[in-house]
This record gives sequence, C-alpha cells and structure tokens, in this order.
Amino acid sequence: MNHANSKSLFDAAQKVIPGGVNSPVRAFRSVGGNPLFFKGGEGAYLIDADDNRYIDYVGAWGPLILGHGNPLVVDALRNQLEQGIGYGASTEAEIRLASKIIELVPSIEKVRLTTSGTEATMSAIRVARGYTRRDEIVKFEGCYHGHADGLLVKAGSGALTLGEPDSLGVPKAYTDLTHVLPYNDSEAVESFFAKQGDKIACIIVEPVAGNMNLVPPAPGFLETLRSVCDKHGTVLIFDEVMSGFRVASGGAQAVYGITPDMTCLGKVIGGGLPVGAFGGRKEIMDMIAPLGGVYQAGTLSGSPLAVAAGICMLEAVSQPGFYETLGQRAAQLMAGLRERAATAGIPFTTNQVGGMFGCFFSEEEQVSNFAQVTACNAERFQNYFHAMLDGGVYLAPSAFEAGFISMAHGDEEIRITLDAAEQAFNSLAQ
Ligand SMILES: *Cc1c(COP(=O)(O)O)cnc(C)c1O
Repeated sequence: MNHANSKSLFDAAQKVIPGGVNSPVRAFRSVGGNPLFFKGGEGAYLIDADDNRYIDYVGAWGPLILGHGNPLVVDALRNQLEQGIGYGASTEAEIRLASKIIELVPSIEKVRLTTSGTEATMSAIRVARGYTRRDEIVKFEGCYHGHADGLLVKAGSGALTLGEPDSLGVPKAYTDLTHVLPYNDSEAVESFFAKQGDKIACIIVEPVAGNMNLVPPAPGFLETLRSVCDKHGTVLIFDEVMSGFRVASGGAQAVYGITPDMTCLGKVIGGGLPVGAFGGRKEIMDMIAPLGGVYQAGTLSGSPLAVAAGICMLEAVSQPGFYETLGQRAAQLMAGLRERAATAGIPFTTNQVGGMFGCFFSEEEQVSNFAQVTACNAERFQNYFHAMLDGGVYLAPSAFEAGFISMAHGDEEIRITLDAAEQAFNSLAQ
C-alpha cells in the first residue's frame, strides 16, 4: 500500500503542530510507523490521503455509530447551517435534545451541554464537590475521564499509551485530592470507604471501562460503588462519555441496572461534532449557576450544529432493535476473530458490550482488570495492527483503545475484516 501523501503531510504537520497531531494517540507512537492522514469517510470506510480505503473500527473514537456521512445527520446539519451557525443564546432545539437525553437515561433529571467530554467530567466533579461541600474524590486505575488536571492520575488511553500515567505541568497539590483505586476490586473500595468515606465528594467511574482497551464491570462492582456512596453521602458519577448510547440506548447504567447520581456524556451525542453533557438528580444539578453557587459556562455550549446532530443521533439509536443489531454484528466479528486466532495458534481473547469491543493478545480466558490488560503481548499487537492496515482494516493505533462498530458495518465488511485477520494471525504465527 502506498502512503507517500500521508508521509509528506506528516512531515509538514510536524513542523507546525507538536508531534504533528492534535491528540497524542493519533501519532502512531505505540504501533510504530507514520500516522495516516484522511480525506474522506463513507459508511464503514475511511479514505486516506493516498486514496487507500479501509474498514474503520475507530469511528472517530466512538461517535460515528451510524457510520461516516450518514445522510440523516448530514441533512440535519445542512438544515441548521442554513439557519445559522451559532447565536450564543438559547434555542428550542436544546430543549428537544435535553428532553431526549432525559427520556433515554431516566437517572438524568436535568442536563447541561458542554463542548467536550473533558468539560463534562470536570464540571460534574465541581458540582459534586459543591453539593457535598467535600474536596476529595475517587477514581480508578486505567479509567480516563478527559485531561483535566486533577484527573490525570493513572489515566488510561493516551496517557497509558505513552507510558506517562501522570503529566508534567500538573501540580502535585491538584492531584493530592484524587484517590486512585483498582478497577473491579470491590474489596479495595469497601475498605477505603470504611476508613475515609465521609470525606469523599464523589466516585467517578467508567461503568464499562473503554480506555484500557475494553473491560466490563465485574459482577457486583457497580453495586458496591452504589452502596458505599449511599452509606457515606458520596455522589456516584458514571462517566458514560464513551459507553453512553454505545452499549444501549440507556447507557451502561441500563445494561447493569445501577442508577448513578450523575452521568457524563459525549461522543455519540454529538454525532462527530464537538459536544459533551453532564446531568443527574435535580437537587444536585440545581447547584449550578445561575440557580446555585457552582460556576460552569461555555461560549459554544449547546452549539446549534452539535445539537442538531445530537437530536438526529438519539432519534436513530432509539429505534427498536438498534442495539440488538449492533451487538449481534460486534459479537459475530469477535467470534470470527477468536476462531481464526485459535486456528493460527495465537493466544487471543475478546470482550464486547453492545457496539464496543476489545481484543487482547493474552493467555487469559477473560481479561477483567488493568493488570491483565497491561500484561498483554504488545509486540503481537503492533504486528497485528500493521498487518490489518495492509489488509485494509483501520484499528485504533494503540492496544489500550476500545474498538467501535457502526450500523454501516454489514456482513460484507465483517467478511473482509475476518479475511484480513486470518492472514494477520497466520503471519504472527510464523
Ligand atoms: C473520550 C472520553 C472523555 C473525554 O472526552 P473529550 O471529548 O475527548 O474531552 C472522557 N471520558 C471518557 C470515558 C472518554 O472515553
């Protein structure tokens, strides 16, 4: 495959953009080689700067659950464009989007829009602190909640990929209030809360962890979080920026039947435009300015374009059978990959929840914690990544990212992917 144009664009980008990228994982550092530059997307496919076509399992890191250039989303955006790009004031469409979010995620009684997932989690934590009048918070190892200072402790995703779990430039005083516990370890949570639960403003957690590859919650883990929060007056925040409208129309909280006090959203609700949201119980959300004393704002919050795309996405995903179909396709893909890896004699396992999946070069039967994720064979992943790319399949360029399937991925795309995987596994076995 020829990548000459991507290569020269990367050379040019490195002169004017740090590392040539606007977000670190895009740089291919953990898989080696040069990153690809893209110029188009159509349904399940991405087209790079050299006109190569790939089946896309990144989906803009999750939002494109309908595939690239879905006509419903494009029309909604075009209609809004003709009415104006932004007003910096309220619109009727914001009420429609908020109402739709509340209808689909009943734990949310009121919701506010932001421009990114990072702002959603940062704001939700501020509100939880204001509500409880407490300062300390709990997060989990390998969970990523955006790049706010106090959350860059043992964060997953890019921070993990680069082997720098903590960032330079974050004063120690900012993270002193953040306690980090192991994901899926209910006993650790219980003993921590028994000692200092009354000081904790909130627990923030990815109810399906999607930034250390994909790790579903262990049985009882989310129940434990709910019960310690109830006991100690701590706010339970589900960061569903990734899992919301990705694993079910009601998010991971609907799949596992646990009701958080607050929820953060992003990715799918913007359909690929910059958006985030946080919401929850009315008495907590009413702490926010102008009603209460917790300040939170945004010039572009509720951008009419993002809202138009969001309404369109939520209408599409709330059609009956949407997540059954998406989940079946993901399951079919995972079963096919496991079968082909086994035939080639490569130790390999998968996780899947709805339209999200994780692939692991691991001897474990099931990967269910951070230690098992980091113990996976990184060199095999690198080789697999490049073999799949050569076979016309674009995976996230890091072993710590979840994979995403869309409704545009049909039997034909799955067949092509499995053919490429068969060759890739065979080349690993040699
Ligand atoms: C992507 C992500 C974020 C950050 O969202 P941005 O829009 O990148 O700021 C936060 N939490 C989770 C779980 C995410 O997957």
